[in-house]
Amino acid sequence: MVNQYGLIKQIKEYADKNNIPIITDEGISYITNYIIKHQIKQVLEIGTAIGYSAIKMALSYKDVEITSIERDEKRYLEALKNIKKLDLEDRIHLIYNDALLVNLKDKFDLIFIDAAKAQNIKFFEKFEHNLLPNGTIITDNIFFHGLVKKNEEEIESKNLKALVRKIKAYIEFLEKNSSFETQILEIGDGIAVSRRTKTEGD
Ligand code: SAH
Ligand code: MG
Repeated sequence: MVNQYGLIKQIKEYADKNNIPIITDEGISYITNYIIKHQIKQVLEIGTAIGYSAIKMALSYKDVEITSIERDEKRYLEALKNIKKLDLEDRIHLIYNDALLVNLKDKFDLIFIDAAKAQNIKFFEKFEHNLLPNGTIITDNIFFHGLVKKNEEEIESKNLKALVRKIKAYIEFLEKNSSFETQILEIGDGIAVSRRTKTEGD
């Protein structure tokens, strides 16, 4: 019998072997502390990968439920398997689709954006309508492996340069958004914490 700790270790090893970019230890512990401190009940995650962050969130607080969206079939199936192994099917609900095509009616007190980094503004604008009035949106990889802090000339690949520009535009979008107060934290690969200060229609 493998215990919970062993199963999580296996998930991390699988991610490592298959180059699946799961959140850093520091990043996930910030989020799980946030969940506990604010007694978060409903989380929406964009970008499940193999379920690592969703599982860590679910295990951090017994009253939290997670809805998580993943568009890659292989990862989605691996996530399903991992969630079953940990007996968390009741509290982690997976949706296999492109998040930009998913329309949800539910409201969440925390939304965790951790999918295609070039689409962050789109995810934010789409799902802020699913955020409860005092909810928070947390975005991972705000520094994108440190590249966002580099001079553009230092980045050789054109695609990477374009991606870094998009992430910078996202940071600017957050900073200018008057309905949210955003803090950029030097945690893990950089985390943006955006708390809603004004409700839609105010
Ligand atoms: N949150 C996970 C890591 C997610 S990695 C963890 O920390 O454990 C990012 C994932 O987002 C990838 O698996 C990728 O397939 C998925 N993704 C990217 N764009 C997406 C989209 N538009 N809709 C759904 N999933 C997306
Ligand atoms: Mg991430």
